[in-house]
Amino acid sequence: EPSSLSGLPAGVGEALEAEGVAELYPPQEAAVDAGVTDGESLVAAVPTASGKTLIAELAMLSSVERGGKALYIVPLRALASEKKAEFERWEDHGVTVGVSTGNYDSDGEWLASRDVIVATSEKVDSLIRNGAPWIDDLTCVVSDEVHLVDDSHRGPTLEVTLAKLRKVNPGLQTVALSATVGNADVIADWLDAELVESDWRPIALRTGVHFGNAINFDDGSQREVPVERGEDQTARLVADALDTEEDGQGGSSLVFVNSRRNAESSARKLTDVTGPRLTGEERDRLRELAEEIRGVSDTDTSEDLADAVERGSAFHHAGLASEHRSLVEDAFRDRLIKCVSATPTLAAGVNTPARRVIVRDWRRYDGEFGGMKPLDVLEVHQMCGRAGRPGLDPYGEAVLLANSADTREELFDRYVWAEAEPVRSKLAAEPALRTHVLATVASGFAATRDGLLSFLDNTLYATQTDDEGRLAAVTDTVLDYLDVNGFVERDRDGGSEGLAATGIGHTVSRLYLDPMSAAEILDGLRTVPDGADDGGAGDFVPADGAAPGPDADADDAGFTTYTRANDDGNEPAETTESDAGDGPAVTPLGLYHLVSRTPDTYQLYLKSGDREEYTEVCYEREAELLGDTPSEYEDVRFEDWLAALKTGRLLEDWANEVDEDRIAERYGVGPGDIRGKVDTAEWLLRAAETLARDVDGIDGDVVVQVREARKRLEYGVREELLDLAGVRNVGRKRARRLYEAGIESRADLREADKAVVLGALRGRERTAERILENAGREDPSLDGVDPDSSASAAAT
Ligand code: ADP
Repeated sequence: EPSSLSGLPAGVGEALEAEGVAELYPPQEAAVDAGVTDGESLVAAVPTASGKTLIAELAMLSSVERGGKALYIVPLRALASEKKAEFERWEDHGVTVGVSTGNYDSDGEWLASRDVIVATSEKVDSLIRNGAPWIDDLTCVVSDEVHLVDDSHRGPTLEVTLAKLRKVNPGLQTVALSATVGNADVIADWLDAELVESDWRPIALRTGVHFGNAINFDDGSQREVPVERGEDQTARLVADALDTEEDGQGGSSLVFVNSRRNAESSARKLTDVTGPRLTGEERDRLRELAEEIRGVSDTDTSEDLADAVERGSAFHHAGLASEHRSLVEDAFRDRLIKCVSATPTLAAGVNTPARRVIVRDWRRYDGEFGGMKPLDVLEVHQMCGRAGRPGLDPYGEAVLLANSADTREELFDRYVWAEAEPVRSKLAAEPALRTHVLATVASGFAATRDGLLSFLDNTLYATQTDDEGRLAAVTDTVLDYLDVNGFVERDRDGGSEGLAATGIGHTVSRLYLDPMSAAEILDGLRTVPDGADDGGAGDFVPADGAAPGPDADADDAGFTTYTRANDDGNEPAETTESDAGDGPAVTPLGLYHLVSRTPDTYQLYLKSGDREEYTEVCYEREAELLGDTPSEYEDVRFEDWLAALKTGRLLEDWANEVDEDRIAERYGVGPGDIRGKVDTAEWLLRAAETLARDVDGIDGDVVVQVREARKRLEYGVREELLDLAGVRNVGRKRARRLYEAGIESRADLREADKAVVLGALRGRERTAERILENAGREDPSLDGVDPDSSASAAAT
């Protein structure tokens, strides 16, 4: 039992020992000496895989043992469930664990009963905004990968969230886990914490550069890996690791590349290395795994992944479905997959070590930079840190690839010898402050301008900056913006300027919207007129604002007729026609475009040729777009408008039942991206519905349209299938087949001829029974029913 441990729940020491923790690693020892089990705050800046998680566990378990409650903040949603599963082993020792994921706007009251809660920083921020009662009970908070405060998108949220938690609860123990960065002392300063900083690793790591015939390592050693002319450097290095047996096993490799496409093509190429080296048994198990992968979704990505996996190689990037990701990670950890080609997302957090890490690409395309930009030192160090699996490999090797002697020297200077960059707060930027100033005021952390500035004094930004006026200046700009848009009220009488959130300001904060998104959505919805005189849904006349511009050729009769650019024969062309004066003033595309142009959506990029294509679409369908289309001469705004249109069209395709695979191909995205865009748009439309209800001047029928557009996204179906697709286990494809077999609603499912149902569901008896049961059918049993052959013929 690790001897220095006390104050933990009974049995934890023994349990750790049983897991193979015979003694604490030196950084862990240092953390205990610094008082991490006695409630002391701590920043642990130590390399990847050096046991940071156990430091956090010791802090949380001892805090819970003293009657407290702990919160573990992760940077990625995918990590939340992984960490929860890891901590659940403490349930045997009476410690309950909960994870908070899912919607931003639920208040998570059930979490009040858990001892340890895992959540992303965005989720925690949202829980605070929504007044989750248990926040006050926290005694220990852990911030995993705290160096990500440097990230301009997500860093400010972490920073402000930690400041809020510490403000609500002045005695809070704060444990921050960081990669080795240039200025961990500043983070410790900010959090009033002890600092444990170390380069120690449980397994030796050699870092080197390959060029020509050998790898040169940082310890001065050299390893011959000759590459023949025309031979691929990466393939050679992967083969070399696999052919070097340690403890009777060849070594696996993790190859980092700079784009998803490169990850996929690299994985395909490397099957030539991994395939021939598989044993018969491995081949069988990989075939099963490939089947499992194909079962997740029927997309090209799924198929490509399965093809590679069958031969022992895989790719991993953020465009993969999460089931795919975990299947790949597990099989790689089990040494079944021999090589993974990944984008850098894998380096951040997910625990997938390999004997050899190959950093193939050290530059990546960066639009803002205007070309190929070298990766940060911190990023490369984190990739390299994935080399070496404790307990499995005798050592880890990280290799960068150079194609000239000069590059070799450059890579040594730039990455091998270099210290990671210092982290810098990105809080003093308008987009970040817009949302956090509103939330801070709305949740009662500040009631005056002075109070707000003194709250912001508890951030990393304030600790780091030598320009004290900057934060105040940006804050004032943001307050003006929030005031003009009706989200805050300012009271300039008296000493310090008073601040209060308006009703809608409170709603925006609780909905977790960027205030600019809320303003954009409200402006857009206000351009829809309340033209409905009989109150019927869909009974609208286009607004002046939404009417075609002066040079558009649509007629002005108050209706629009459009045909989708129809590039595949099997989708019905969509033609919306209506009587004069009764046009579709707000269509799903109009709404999808509206939410896609808010700063809360990551829009699709315009690729070459897209500008022409979407300019055309834009004019064809301008009447549907809410608000004024910017002029083509306003370059940036117009590009933005088109990118939102491209994104909106993806959503429209999804809601029109276009195959996932076609969508992936048409927009150049992976299935994970489609899911992501759809989820975001659903969330924004849900928020739009709430906003539209809360303010004056938006017609009630618009609310109905917003809800329907959202539901069509939720199920990925046209209007007529909404009822059917809402039945559990039905889904978009089965709903369409049932509909075509004449079963058009949930009620029809309860009455329909069972043979027809079974036929439409292609004879899948168990599925059909479950669906009938979910539709509320009294007797769902299909014993002895033969599928109706005419129905199944119609469906195929
Ligand atoms: P980090 O969070 O620093 O990236 P982890 O906490 O994931 O690293 O630790 C890496 C591995 O080391 C885990 O598998 C963990 O179980 C193991 N480990 C941690 N501490 C010890 C220890 N004191 N003795 C043996 N193994 C340990």
